[in-house]
Order: sequence, then structure tokens, then C-alpha cells
Amino acid sequence: MRITALAGGIGGARFLRGLRAAVSPGDEITVIGNTGDDIHLYGLKVCPDLDTVMYTLGGGIHEEQGWGRTDETWSIKEEMKAYGVGPEWFGLGDRDFATHIVRTQMLAAGYPLSAVTEALCARWQPGVRLLPMSDDRVETHVRITDADGPRVVHFQEYWVRLHAAVDAEAIVPVGADTAKPAPGVLEALAEADVVLLPPSNPVVSIGTVLAVPGIREAVAGASAPVIGLSPIVGGAPVRGMADKVLAAVGVETSAAAVAEHYGSRASGGLLDGWLVDSSDADAVARVEAAGITCRAVPLMMSSVEATAEMARTALALAAEVAA
Ligand code: GDP
Ligand code: CA
Repeated sequence: MRITALAGGIGGARFLRGLRAAVSPGDEITVIGNTGDDIHLYGLKVCPDLDTVMYTLGGGIHEEQGWGRTDETWSIKEEMKAYGVGPEWFGLGDRDFATHIVRTQMLAAGYPLSAVTEALCARWQPGVRLLPMSDDRVETHVRITDADGPRVVHFQEYWVRLHAAVDAEAIVPVGADTAKPAPGVLEALAEADVVLLPPSNPVVSIGTVLAVPGIREAVAGASAPVIGLSPIVGGAPVRGMADKVLAAVGVETSAAAVAEHYGSRASGGLLDGWLVDSSDADAVARVEAAGITCRAVPLMMSSVEATAEMARTALALAAEVAA
């Protein structure tokens, strides 16, 4: 079986770890990762979502934090601070720095991001094929109005520095309109037996991947069933501030509204099936009314086994809607 999943950072990575545990040997998982969160810091190209997937599946993640390396030290950051060089608000540990140095060096030598990602994964052996959504530069920017007046900030400044404490007025994936899907992306969607949308952020993770011309069309036109899992449980994100970016695109923070936002494939949208958490069982009728087959099951990724069970349920729903 060939499974293709779109993914952001923590939510995507944790789901993929469960999916990997749920599939049979010989099944192939291709991940199309969000690169709209990418940022250049200290002259280095940092790809937070690709790295979260790579470290989580490769056993190098800081488990409680959900991002960055385990057993991390912070000497470089302290030295930068001693020079008065920031930003202080973005955490890059010493081990993590090595990843960004290797990536930046390879990019400078002329390799595309997809080839660099493959090279980094040769070390981490994530057990999935990890593709960036695009080799072209795409950067999510957020329009806000705060004490400094109306302005546009990089997504990381909005998320990490400002903790999404001010309203996002618009979310703009700068560069997406002229970006091309990375090699293998459209093929992985066309040739998949199942396409999955993990419980990643619908706006700044999945939404950014879909903003690359051709990718939304490839999901909508896939011969495989498309199944999504809700990142929203009980009217709130399980972790993070997804409500702030959902509001920016006019979507209410609920499992049903996110399903409607993706839309049913039968009416030009993306989904055949949608899983909501057991606590959102009352959303099932509304989602099904939108033409999307829906089930309420436990969606808390509290352990790899609990997550694997979510993945098995998603695959079973795929088989059901395909039949
Ligand atoms: P990010 O790039 O690190 O923000 O990660 P993603 O975009 O991949 O995932 C973020 C989303 O994961 C958030 O909106 C959370 O609500 C969701 N999430 C995190 N943990 C869980 C969980 O245990 N269950 C579900 N259903 N969603 C989760
Ligand atoms: Ca992210």
C-alpha cells in the first residue's frame, strides 16, 4: 500500500509516528512537508516542520517540547547573545545548529531542498520518504496590528515571539503562487492508495502545502480516498494557537468547521472522510451533511499505540469510502 500524507510539524510528526507503527512492512509512506515556516537565521536556512518530522520519526526529537533535539545544549545561542546577536526568541540548540549548517552548505553548493532533505534523512532513517512541498522559497507572513501599528511579520515572529497574542488579520504564503511542487510530490499524490491529512494546522501547515499550485488539484483529483483527522478537539486546538489563524481565514474553531473548510470531494473540496474526537460526536451529522463520511473516535495522540489506532481507523475509513 502506498500512503501519501501532507504534514506540518508536531501534529503531523506525531501522527506519522503512529501511522508508521500501524502499517505493514512493505507499505510505503510519502510525506509532503510544509516549508512555509522556514526562516533564515544567522545566515542559516531553518526548516522547522521538516526537521520536526525528521527528528520525531528518527528518534532525535525532544519529546516533551515536541520540537528540537533531545539532550540539547545551548552554547552557540549563549555566545551569540554575548555578541548581542539575536533573535533571542527563537530556540536553536547546538545539535540542531548542525542540521541547519549541513542544509545551508548543501543549498549553497547547488542542491535543491528536496535533495538536501533526502541527505539529512539518510542519517535519521525516518522510515518514510520525506519531501518538501516545494524546492522554491515560500514564507508564510502574517498581517497584524499592534502597538507598532499595522505591519506584516514572519510567521515565526507571530507564533514564537508574539505567541499569536494579537489577532492575525491575514495569512500570506509569500512565494507560493509561483512555487512548483518538489519532484515526486504530484506523483506521490497521483499514485497513492490512500491520501491522509493528519491533525496538522489547517491554515499554516496543510493550507500552505495546498497553496503550492498543483498540490490542491492533485489531492482533489487523486484516485485514492482522502481522509483527514481533526486537530481541533472540543472547540479548541489540542496544542498551539490554531484558533488564531483559523479566525484569520474566517473559519470557526471546531472539528466540523475545519471539515467544511477542506470541503467534500464530491463538491470540489478535498475530503472523502473525516475523523473527529469522541468528545465531538455531535459534529458527525454536520460533517456528513457536507458530504463527508465522518466517525467519532479517540483522537488524542497520548502514546504511539493510541496514535497507531487513530491511523488504523483512518485507513479503515479509507477502505470503507473506497468500497
Ligand atoms: P506545528 O507545525 O508544529 O504547529 O504542527 P502541525 O501543524 O503539524 O500540528 C499542529 C496541530 O496539531 C495543532 O493544531 C494541534 O491542535 C494538533 N494536535 C497536537 N496534538 C494533538 C493530538 O493529540 N490530537 C489531535 N487531534 N490534534 C493534535
Ligand atoms: Ca509549523
